[in-house]
Amino acid sequence: MRIDLHTHSSASDGTYSPADVVRLAAADPARLDVLALTDHDSMSGWAEAAQAAERQAITLVPGMEISTKHAGAGVHVLGYLLDPGYPPLAAELERILAAREGRLSTMLAQLQTAGVTISEDDVRRQVGESPAIGRPHIADAMVAKGFAANRGEAFTDWLNAGRPGHVARYATPTATMIRLITAAGGAAVIAHPWGHGSRRVLDAETLASFRAAGLTGLEVEHQDHGPADRSSLRALASELDLVITGSSDFHGLGKVDHELGCNLTDEDQYARLLAAAAANAATSGRDVLSATVP
Ligand code: AMP
Ligand code: ZN
Ligand code: FE
Ligand code: FE
Repeated sequence: MRIDLHTHSSASDGTYSPADVVRLAAADPARLDVLALTDHDSMSGWAEAAQAAERQAITLVPGMEISTKHAGAGVHVLGYLLDPGYPPLAAELERILAAREGRLSTMLAQLQTAGVTISEDDVRRQVGESPAIGRPHIADAMVAKGFAANRGEAFTDWLNAGRPGHVARYATPTATMIRLITAAGGAAVIAHPWGHGSRRVLDAETLASFRAAGLTGLEVEHQDHGPADRSSLRALASELDLVITGSSDFHGLGKVDHELGCNLTDEDQYARLLAAAAANAATSGRDVLSATVP
């Protein structure tokens, strides 16, 4: 089985629609059997993706990637099979989306001061249907206007922390988000734990405390991790009895070297993830979501 548990569509900052991501995932060369759609801070792509999955020989796992904060560092948390109707989670997501909206005008003003003139309309055109406005959309607007050659350059020159266009925004504390996902009957997995940003704050002790908050797994197989990191993280995961996942973090044309299926999740680890979500749903009395089977 070929299982890829972390991808993005135009429901956040990926370049393909949810239906197109599903079609690409089922087709050559990816040939996935299981695909999780995990857009940033939003579940708005689920319905379209589920509909597309019914027409393909592929199982869709509904998910989401949420930007959180721990000890001053950004930590991305993947939530799978969570009940979207759980009110405390819905309220927190609204707060996050409002913060994404709220920083836009400040970012554009700072860029203007630095000599980069792009309008809110320029950005909205790139945002399209996505409820989560992200720096990648601003990067795309800069590329369209000739201020950068591609997303990567826009981040390096303008949008990364410390650059003229950067503005900090609200993010949920990591442990709080793990508890919310778990209480919503989902399974929480730390995305690219030793990617830049979160690496310095995610030691064994911290991960053990997240495990106590309900954490189900660690995304070990990811392009942010070299062979040495993967082997250390695998050892940590088994020590803490955490599920090991793998994924592409596909963004369509928005991120190079992240092709669908470039990293995969083992079948038995996937089964453990599904069991953890079902157990969390039973404990919290939330609706049990299941992967959409072909
Ligand atoms: P934001 O959600 O606004 O904080 O933007 C962060 C998102 O931008 C990340 O989750 C990535 O998807 C994307 N990103 C970060 N760095 C880069 C880069 N160098 N090139 C392309 N996309 C990036
Ligand atoms: Zn992204
Ligand atoms: Fe991420
Ligand atoms: Fe991602």
